[in-house]
Amino acid sequence: MGFQERFATEEACREYLFASRWPEGFMCRACDGAEAGAMHRARLVWQCRSCGQQTSVTAGTVMHATPTPLRTWFWAAYLVATHHPGISAKQLQRQLALSRYETAWLILHKLRRAMVAPERTLLRGEVEIDECFIGGFEPGLRGGRQHGKKVLVGVAIEARGRGSGRLRLAVLADASGDTLGAFASATTESAAIVHTDGLPAYRRLSDLGYEHRPRPARDAQPGELLLPRAHRAISNLKAWLHGTHRGVGDEHLPVYLDEYVFRHNRRTTPMAAFQTLLGLGTMHEPITYAQITQRAA
Ligand SMILES: [Zn+2]
Repeated sequence: MGFQERFATEEACREYLFASRWPEGFMCRACDGAEAGAMHRARLVWQCRSCGQQTSVTAGTVMHATPTPLRTWFWAAYLVATHHPGISAKQLQRQLALSRYETAWLILHKLRRAMVAPERTLLRGEVEIDECFIGGFEPGLRGGRQHGKKVLVGVAIEARGRGSGRLRLAVLADASGDTLGAFASATTESAAIVHTDGLPAYRRLSDLGYEHRPRPARDAQPGELLLPRAHRAISNLKAWLHGTHRGVGDEHLPVYLDEYVFRHNRRTTPMAAFQTLLGLGTMHEPITYAQITQRAA
């Protein structure tokens, strides 16, 4: 069964949210009571039969307190998670058959927020670290003229056999040893083997504990691409920025770098991406309905 058929009704989405929050059946956070009744016809808020504690199945998710049907959110998150190289608000509006563009835009931006959550675990094993210049685009200008100054971006990517593992990108202030060292520390375990192009600024990587294996360009065999994974990631990133976003203003670049990393790192696990986008990852510590309403008051 396809995704859209599986989540064709509000009931199916609700059951999925309920099962995500309470995989082993309802359990009250306040008293461990195992019995609850639904509060309203929408069956989104459940009340413990022993102590009266109320818990919403959408609390802590992007769907909470929005008028948009659950099945629209589910389908939107699935499209955003699986649509390569990325989906625009206009495409989303058409796919979801929404009458208002503003609704599609709002959904897309709320889902995108989940992509900017910093990736927590550090890269390990063998990692290629490189830097490149991106952009200088000013989207408002006609003809995509390059006006602004280019932005330096750091790239760190795991080597997995002949392929690539996880990716990290960050805007860098400069290409100094301090900045590149800080980028390495922020992205990569100190026990990792780090490959670089041998730029002198990378020399201090060994002081930071890395097994540094610099390979200057002059050492390359004819036709050999040094740091092949980093270079592939950079050229794919540039193509994505041009093609999907028609160039990105400098101030928005970090957000798009985060989205690119999110997509790259979940390219083989669309359901995990779907869950993260909806905010289901936060469900291990459910927020109660009462907490939400108190906070809002
Ligand atoms: Zn209870």
